[in-house]
Amino acid sequence: MPYQLLRFAFNKQYPENHMFRCPDQIKTHYDAIIIGAGGHGLATAYYLARDHNISNVAVLEKNYIGSGGTGRNTAIVRSNYLTAEGIKFYDESVRLFQDLSTDLDLNLFYSQRGHFTLAHSDATLRTMRWRAEVNKHLGVKSELVDPKIIKEFCPHLDLNCNGHMPVLGALFHPPGAIARHDAVAWGYGRAASQRGVEIHQQTEVTGIKLKSSGVIGVQTNRGEIETPKVLSAVAGYTPKIMQMVNIPTPLEIHPLQACVTEPLKPWLDTIIVSANFHLYVSQSSRGELVMGAALDPYELHSPRSTLDFVEGLAGHLLELFPFLSDVKVLRQWGGLADMTPDFSPIMGKTPIDGFYVDAGWGTWGFKATPVCGKTMAYTLANDDPHPLIVPFSLSRFEKYELVGEKGAASVGH
Ligand SMILES: Cc1cc2nc3c(=O)[nH]c(=O)nc-3n(C[C@H](O)[C@H](O)[C@H](O)COP(=O)(O)OP(=O)(O)OC[C@H]3O[C@@H](n4cnc5c(N)ncnc54)[C@H](O)[C@@H]3O)c2cc1C
Repeated sequence: MPYQLLRFAFNKQYPENHMFRCPDQIKTHYDAIIIGAGGHGLATAYYLARDHNISNVAVLEKNYIGSGGTGRNTAIVRSNYLTAEGIKFYDESVRLFQDLSTDLDLNLFYSQRGHFTLAHSDATLRTMRWRAEVNKHLGVKSELVDPKIIKEFCPHLDLNCNGHMPVLGALFHPPGAIARHDAVAWGYGRAASQRGVEIHQQTEVTGIKLKSSGVIGVQTNRGEIETPKVLSAVAGYTPKIMQMVNIPTPLEIHPLQACVTEPLKPWLDTIIVSANFHLYVSQSSRGELVMGAALDPYELHSPRSTLDFVEGLAGHLLELFPFLSDVKVLRQWGGLADMTPDFSPIMGKTPIDGFYVDAGWGTWGFKATPVCGKTMAYTLANDDPHPLIVPFSLSRFEKYELVGEKGAASVGH
């Protein structure tokens, strides 16, 4: 039997389909180049080809697709933000996510769970009430709920928290969901590739070529390429790319860590966030508890992980769920979070013609993948920012027109 299986595996008659084409050669000219094959870069390439008929596009990735934040996040999707600009933007992303498996013809394991942000103090409860009211005003389902309702949805939660900061209430956001993050990257990569986009992995952009008229191309470790349009979609690596064109940004890069436990039988079917203990947890379809906490509090351009992080997180987790004390942490990892001063992204045109930016995704960019792809594709195709992203322009920092989302994550900020 194993021999037959081996023969099947090596049989050229039934080759395994590649998810996307990997041409050996890079062309000398493309209509647009996207730097970074994370979810945002790949989604932009897909919508450029699908909605704007621009498919002579190359996505250049220095590593492999999804190797940045896209493959490292904890996959939470929600739209219960604080500002009208943020809520409209993320709500459109949730809407796109709901149909995305069908659109990309790939099961993304999109699973609507309901999202509870627990408040353990009066001050936090006030912020939750504020968020609930703004959300409702803009048609997003969110409400303040009391401990009795929380217990109905999550019977295993110790509302008393061992006497240390009992739960007083929560912001309940029914559309809150999780999805399989790597599948989102593969799905967009495959769909873009089917429409003619080229994805080149192991291809690092090392310089941007400019003339007085604007962008004319990029330099890479595999040679120079001409193009009139370049999008930087490199999240935690944005400062390096912006240095190449001499455009300052207020971005700071901090490590953000996460971990998973060994698989358990299903017992947690909501997403639980604790605003005061600064942690969140959900259970994946494999049974692992997927957990995260606040940013590391210092700037560092390294995705390393630390023992401090798991120790702190475990201590607080046990205050919420004491019965987990014997459960083992299976693995932990880190990623780079590109933080803006107002906790909103930077999207759109830059002072250089033909050079566009999609950055400032900090701890919140996975949920925005579809809407970023759609709006950045529109922006590149029309050389005009999509109406949904106008508030997120880089120039808002010069004009002091910030879009303050502090408090909308509840974990660390
Ligand atoms: C631990 C953790 C948990 C998170 N949890 C959540 C969550 O639950 N929900 C949520 O919404 N968000 C979450 N995030 C944030 C989210 O992961 C990111 O904001 C998002 O993935 C950014 O996607 P992206 O496509 O913009 O960038 P990335 O996925 O980071 O892709 C950028 C790509 O650019 C490539 N690149 C960089 N420089 C170059 C170059 N010079 N040339 C070519 N390629 C280059 C990189 O290799 C990388 O693959 C989390 C992040 C982390 C680290």
